[in-house]
Amino acid sequence: MLAVVGGLVVLIVFMAAGAAGVVTTVLGGAHQTRCTFAGDETPAVPGYTPEQLANATTIITIGKQLNVPERGWIIALVTAIQESRLRNLDYGDRDSLGLFQQRPSQGWGKREQLLNPTYSATQFYRHLLAVPDWPAMSINDAAQTVQRSGFPHAYARHEPAARQLLTALHGHTCTRTPAAGEWAVPVQGQCTSRFGPRGTGFHRGLDIAAPLGTPILAAGSGTVLDSGPASGYGLWIRIQHRDGTITTYGHNNRNHTQPGQQVRTGQLIAEVGNRGESTGPHLHFQIEQHGQPTDPVAFFRRHGGPTLCDQ
Ligand SMILES: [Zn+2]
Repeated sequence: MLAVVGGLVVLIVFMAAGAAGVVTTVLGGAHQTRCTFAGDETPAVPGYTPEQLANATTIITIGKQLNVPERGWIIALVTAIQESRLRNLDYGDRDSLGLFQQRPSQGWGKREQLLNPTYSATQFYRHLLAVPDWPAMSINDAAQTVQRSGFPHAYARHEPAARQLLTALHGHTCTRTPAAGEWAVPVQGQCTSRFGPRGTGFHRGLDIAAPLGTPILAAGSGTVLDSGPASGYGLWIRIQHRDGTITTYGHNNRNHTQPGQQVRTGQLIAEVGNRGESTGPHLHFQIEQHGQPTDPVAFFRRHGGPTLCDQ
């Protein structure tokens, strides 16, 4: 009898470990950060887990930040409900991934990018806005035009659920942040030029190459000092952080911030561009301490941030 109970305990522990493994796979990854709701009120909607609600809030927040009309948020929500039940899946049909089950082989982005809900939601909205008459389409047809799904009529039935979620989550904002005051990777991409001597000059930042329009996130929370045109940088953003450190983001295609605005770690602030003295779409990411530029890779290492340029 005791032996049977012991066996059951072992089995339960084993199953719990297995379940924890699944959660880690879905939520985890070196560049994943969790979604934090502003204030202390975490919303509750019957039938949805906190992870699903956080992902729905990310979809709504990105829609607002990109100035997409509300109908577009509903289209994005019905799509993510149908494709993933609002879960950030690291698997899918063929090479489909993430909240919207987008496919690297179809040009949606790299695997790691598509597993970032901020990136995948931005990609969804970019494709939606590229459909000229999307506001006049039915919600189902607009979703299907973006997704080209094998189940073209499956989206419409989720509209009531999407509206219920929007009502519950509308007042909430969610930022993807490791923890207040910490540091986040500003863009998912390939490091192409490091800080240090370059040719006859000195490269004062780190270049991270990524496709045009890739989201640029605030590396840390702080106040936007500048957001606009700047010589050499094309379009730039400068953020002052609590300890006086300044981060600069250059060659941007579009900025989504205003000078004086408070931003939080991981907040979408701009899109990767090729403006100014630039030879291809990339982010020039610069960090200054006491007015002196410092190596971002070493800065992140010293400050317990995620690894920049791990290859
Ligand atoms: Zn640079």
